[in-house]
Amino acid sequence: MTSEIDGRRHLPTLAYIGAVCFRCYKAESPDLRLSKCGKCLRVAYCSTECQKADWKRHKPFCNAWHKLLHDNDQTIAFDSSINSDMSPSALRLRLSKRVETESTYLQQLMGRPLTPVEKNILVWEPSCMACSVTDRLIKRHGLPNRAVKPCLGCAITFSCCEPHWDLIKEVHISTPSQDSVGEFAQCQMNQWLRENEAFSIRVSNNPDPTDPGPFRWFPKRIEEAYTPLQKKNWWDIKEPYIQLMDLDEKSSQKDKDVRFRAVTEALSIPLSILFVMEVLNNGDDDWKRRTTLTIHILGSPDYSVSNNEMYEEILHLVPGIKALKVVFVASGYRQLVPPTSINVVKPLAVCSSCEVIGKKLFNEFCDSTYHSFIQEKGYRFVKPDLCIVFHPRISPETSSGWTLTVELLKKRKVPTIVTAYTRPNAEAEYAFLDSLGVKFVDSLSLRLNPFGALTCRSEPHAVAGFIAANLWFSGAFKG
Ligand SMILES: [Zn+2]
Ligand SMILES: [Zn+2]
Ligand SMILES: [Zn+2]
Ligand SMILES: [Zn+2]
Ligand SMILES: [Zn+2]
Repeated sequence: MTSEIDGRRHLPTLAYIGAVCFRCYKAESPDLRLSKCGKCLRVAYCSTECQKADWKRHKPFCNAWHKLLHDNDQTIAFDSSINSDMSPSALRLRLSKRVETESTYLQQLMGRPLTPVEKNILVWEPSCMACSVTDRLIKRHGLPNRAVKPCLGCAITFSCCEPHWDLIKEVHISTPSQDSVGEFAQCQMNQWLRENEAFSIRVSNNPDPTDPGPFRWFPKRIEEAYTPLQKKNWWDIKEPYIQLMDLDEKSSQKDKDVRFRAVTEALSIPLSILFVMEVLNNGDDDWKRRTTLTIHILGSPDYSVSNNEMYEEILHLVPGIKALKVVFVASGYRQLVPPTSINVVKPLAVCSSCEVIGKKLFNEFCDSTYHSFIQEKGYRFVKPDLCIVFHPRISPETSSGWTLTVELLKKRKVPTIVTAYTRPNAEAEYAFLDSLGVKFVDSLSLRLNPFGALTCRSEPHAVAGFIAANLWFSGAFKG
């Protein structure tokens, strides 16, 4: 979500670690050297113009960070030894404790909470993956023979000395991540992240250089027959999509790969829906011949709005479906779509292939909770073919709002699937659904989604684990 103080939202990870300009995201090259902000030594800029343009926004944080560097009374205890517990969760806890203390300190100085961007500058400060030390702490505590150095493969994770690198290199470079479709190691996934961030900055047509936005591409063609997705993943369907992109013959394999990963972010939506429909209907093909297939979308309003056009791919992949109606239901749409689009079923413009044979796409935005949506519809409520809840991040604090919705979905036996960004999110959501007594469809519950986005980002200091759109299925149920 956009914050009022710092209007930017998803900054590239590379900006937080100082590998690209903090204002315009230009990367260092033989012709361009980035310089660190001389006061905080924490963020980097490509030019004095960029630094000046960013100063108003950066100043409060920069001043506070400068004090953090030089305040000698303020002693942040730091234990640089390594104990036997090298589990990802133990390492994470170590980082989060330090970050908590330091963010409290900064917030007191600034007299306000840190913005999400500022919090990320703190969290992504290059630190040893084993002991979490940073160059700033090495200096303060006078630790001998330490310096935070990047991994030579990805330059996104760091270690402070040879012994600590030896402790983590195996898991970082070789151990397949359980969170990747195709089981790649963290270092490989970081290299993808680096390529994909550079790509989205390069192709961005957003006039605001500080918000590159996602790469948008929507395939236009109708398949002659439906090809089942079960037992498949991205690698099985990659080639046809790359063909559709109609790239220059000179495009390298690396360029094709980076584009394909970028489009999976939005393609993940229709493909996850079709995959789930197949499994839930288990051999019953009626849904593939519907005059109108109806999908209800709950959760993450901004994610749903920005990927709105992608639903047409369902019409393209399933030739038998004549019309698709997508109903978006969540609190918050009033801020994101024009008032004339609220509670109105609208026909959308479709591609020429769809138009020629009369395929239709409709959508409707409802700014309300799902339970009040059902109440308002009353007898006009039509049970959808699928209800999909995109990464709701259900936590103990937000769960009460979801209880009524899940109870209703259960009572009305609506086929439902909940997706998550990460494994811990999926586990929390599974436990929540379980506590409400839903009858899980086991093959779609607490598992990786083979069609989760390939634009994975690692989380700061996470030795394992990734975050990506629809990466996990938290749970599916039909009652
Ligand atoms: Zn710049
Ligand atoms: Zn600064
Ligand atoms: Zn270390
Ligand atoms: Zn690496
Ligand atoms: Zn079309």
